[in-house]
Amino acid sequence: MAAQILDGKSLAAQVRAGVKEKVARLAQRGIRAGLAVVLAGDDPASKVYVRNKVRACEETGVRSSLFEYPASVSEKDLLDGVARLNNDPGIHGILVQLPLPTQVDALRVLDAVSPAKDVDGFHHANLGALLAGKPGIVPCTPAGVMRLLEHARVPLAGRRAVVIGRSNIVGKPLALLLLQKDATVTICHSKSQDIESIAKQADILVAAIGRAKLVSAAMVKPGACVVDVGVNRLPDGTLAGDVDFQAAKNVAGWITPVPGGVGPMTIAMLLENCLYAAHKHESAT
Ligand code: NAP
Repeated sequence: MAAQILDGKSLAAQVRAGVKEKVARLAQRGIRAGLAVVLAGDDPASKVYVRNKVRACEETGVRSSLFEYPASVSEKDLLDGVARLNNDPGIHGILVQLPLPTQVDALRVLDAVSPAKDVDGFHHANLGALLAGKPGIVPCTPAGVMRLLEHARVPLAGRRAVVIGRSNIVGKPLALLLLQKDATVTICHSKSQDIESIAKQADILVAAIGRAKLVSAAMVKPGACVVDVGVNRLPDGTLAGDVDFQAAKNVAGWITPVPGGVGPMTIAMLLENCLYAAHKHESAT
């Protein structure tokens, strides 16, 4: 039987409608949720991501301001810009679009964002809170994956989850979130051996690699839930995930498509994080 498709587009639309309502209620109390987007350089993919995020803000009533810097920007100029946004009471969330130009230490810039405004959840204080199981801002893509799993009622407790990819923004935080839900979690990476047989044991298999169709149907346990975070541009210009979707959907129990799976959820979670930051700001003032 073909897998149930985890439709991120439609769930994200529901989440956005909820955010829109809450943003309007907040505005009635005199607070207009505001997001600042920092974009440095001319990376075309980054420009598309930023445009989508800004558009999503506009649709939900979150005020967005774009701060653009040339590819030659110095680290100091970016740090000064982030400091100004940290001190601006009208800005509740700050998003620094990655990648940053190579002369800039991206980690230093991400860590310069106030943890209370860190709507991407990349500051070490928020990542530490996640590790410790304390409240904080959770990175958007892992949060979006968890929301998709929760919505589809995919059983997690006691199940075996395998996450392929160990980046600080996707693989590692997602592994922690799955662990919080009592899954038994294995993380694989480029040095892991025999990924095929590890993946095949997974009840929940997450691919966050950035290699088109690396996960074949043979790596999927029958009935497993397959989550494809990867976004890869093929030579013909089309998008593909890290999973061979057409083949894997005949083996999996649930599967996310690319596009239309995790991607829309990432933006929806960004809006929720913005709202969370604006609420926190309201209760602190
Ligand atoms: P990343 O920082 O490049 O990390 C990739 C991870 O994959 C690394 O841990 C790497 O291992 C591992 N890896 C690479 N080749 C491998 C292989 N052959 N076998 C096993 N593991 C391998 O990427 P990322 O930022 O986590 O993003 C991953 C993918 O998700 C990309 O396609 C990205 O575009 C996409 N993405 C999508 C969204 C969304 O909203 N849909 C959001 C963020 C990212 P090492 O650590 O050993 O190098």
